[in-house]
Amino acid sequence: MTAKVIDGKAFAASVRALVGTHVAQLLAQNGIVPGLAVVLVGEDPASQVYVRNKHASTIEVGMNSYEHRLDAGTSEADLLALIGRLNKDPKVNGILVQLPLPGHLNSDLVINSIDPAKDVDGFHISNVGLLGTGQKSMVPCTPLGCLMMLRDHHGSLSGLNAVVVGRSNIVGKPMAQLLLGDSCTVTIAHSRTKDLAAVCRAADILVAAVGRPEMITGDYVKPGATVIDVGINRVERDGKVKLVGDVHYASAAAVAGAITPVPGGVGPMTIACLLANTLTATCRANGLQEPKGLTA
Ligand code: NDP
Repeated sequence: MTAKVIDGKAFAASVRALVGTHVAQLLAQNGIVPGLAVVLVGEDPASQVYVRNKHASTIEVGMNSYEHRLDAGTSEADLLALIGRLNKDPKVNGILVQLPLPGHLNSDLVINSIDPAKDVDGFHISNVGLLGTGQKSMVPCTPLGCLMMLRDHHGSLSGLNAVVVGRSNIVGKPMAQLLLGDSCTVTIAHSRTKDLAAVCRAADILVAAVGRPEMITGDYVKPGATVIDVGINRVERDGKVKLVGDVHYASAAAVAGAITPVPGGVGPMTIACLLANTLTATCRANGLQEPKGLTA
């Protein structure tokens, strides 16, 4: 079997186009322009690239983008004061603090100081609790993007066996919650899971969020399963830096029914979902109906 390639790049473009249409309508009908504030502390090169891409995508869909670049030595008090101002600013509908933060800053404290209604990353403890109890929340962007692709491919996910490899707060756990919300039978695997390959081979949907290059090979995949590769790993091959996922693409694609590539799979969906979340937050803040198909 050769897997169908789930084209995250094309899907993300369609999500961004849909967001753009709703943004234009908001302006025309309500005079509202959604605003996303991104806070970057320090000069981490990968974070700088992410923030640049987020800025460009925000502008592209017609939203306002507010960038706050702070130097690496910024105190916690100054960062919290900035977030306090953004919480109160009516032009700002979404706030994202780029992680990781420098070591002297308490990430949990900082994230939990964001107004939960503006927490477009969905990491605030209130949003985590709302998602866990099946209530309306802001949903973390990467798992939301995975869910959208899975719904698009399968239609209903009800009754499917899903295995999520990885239990981080930003990917693994919320992914599992979302799949449970769509009535999958969900297993969360991690570094202590016994016979991981056998656990994975029971999956109709296999989500890899491990952070280990190409660890999930074809031996972990049930024939015909859908494989979602969240991993982004930079590895050196033949003297060049290459981007690979947590899934060994060639061997997994030979067994799977459908698979996301890296690059061009989950990655582009993450930014598209950040824009979708900012639009959702704007609609909620203004008592307007939320666009369909852009949230869980
Ligand atoms: P974390 O390092 O926070 O979590 C990794 C998880 O994988 C942990 O739960 C860990 O288990 C588990 N794990 C590690 N080694 C093994 C193993 N040998 N067998 C089974 N499980 C294992 O990573 P993140 O969740 O933040 O990210 C996961 C991947 O997704 C990374 O490659 C990251 O770059 C990528 N990513 C991609 C995004 C995108 O936009 N596409 C966004 C965010 C992340 P334990 O808890 O037991 O240690």
